[in-house]
Amino acid sequence: MRTRLLGMSPARLKEIALENGLPSFTGNQIARWMYKGRARSIDDMTNISKEGRARLAENYEVGIAGPSEVQTSRDGTRKYLFPVPGSDRAVEAVMIPDGDRKTLCVSSQNGCRMGCRFCMTGRGGYHGQLQVADILSQFLAVEEAGELTNAVFMGMGEPLDNWDNVNAALEVLTSDWGFGWSPKRITVSTIGVIPSLKNFLDGSRCHLAVSLHSPFADERASIMPMQKAWPLNDVLDLVKSYDFTGQRRVSFEYTMFSGLNDSPRHADALASLLKGLECRVNLIRFHKIPDFPWSTSAPERMEAFKERLEHQGITVTIRASRGEDILAACGLLAGSRNKLPEER
Ligand code: SF4
Repeated sequence: MRTRLLGMSPARLKEIALENGLPSFTGNQIARWMYKGRARSIDDMTNISKEGRARLAENYEVGIAGPSEVQTSRDGTRKYLFPVPGSDRAVEAVMIPDGDRKTLCVSSQNGCRMGCRFCMTGRGGYHGQLQVADILSQFLAVEEAGELTNAVFMGMGEPLDNWDNVNAALEVLTSDWGFGWSPKRITVSTIGVIPSLKNFLDGSRCHLAVSLHSPFADERASIMPMQKAWPLNDVLDLVKSYDFTGQRRVSFEYTMFSGLNDSPRHADALASLLKGLECRVNLIRFHKIPDFPWSTSAPERMEAFKERLEHQGITVTIRASRGEDILAACGLLAGSRNKLPEER
């Protein structure tokens, strides 16, 4: 099996060039072809000698893994299904158009082991990490590859449970030698995996989104079991020790469940938790999943919740649902080829 070059830094690519009897500057050429030129094969790298390309191709390949299916929603949202190399499963990436913006919602793991009760991905279990090449393939193989303006790591998986690969992908996305994106164009979402959260906050300048869903520890644990491993108060203590008053932003995702977390008491507790932190709360309508009793809060209930937070100085957005007709909206991604446990 050939090693995939996609995701490697110029320094590592230089080593590979030298090991294969090529000049070290070939490492920069390969990086430029992959990250700026979106080359799909070593043979496309025409400023490397034919012989050099042939030598590299004996043991290496670019390694873009393309989608097997694409669906387009009535609202223009597109969902791509990416088979995971070496697995019989697939992950999804969703391209969300919005005016001049084209945002890619990226998957970071093959499934997820966080077990959030309302989430289709969590319900399907964990089947392994995505490699950096699998993550970058989602950027390079969608039809809008050259037009993407933003990325959110909010697809399948918990990005900070796959920190090494996600970090390598962020490096490629934000380095001058890579895609050259500003970190302001990227948001990484997490339930609050504290050890990697610290690495992320120290090592990257991308925006942060924290899934919150309830201000009360016991209730949050009943929605997201990993509250027990990484309590919200500890997550917030860590977040508050960083500066979000400049270019870098932190937001909190709050999925609204009717009668569960949408009362004035919840709004007040949430406002007091976030007091003093420059942040935004995104209220998200819950998208019903099969065989699950919870339902979304009514629009007027969400509006009242929003106003109550705003009166206490919190900036709030009610997030528009996108791509619901093709199961591309928040919480619905499961990889349509994958079978859920109860379907087996
Ligand atoms: Fe994993 Fe995110 Fe789903 Fe929770 S919501 S199970 S962290 S994919």
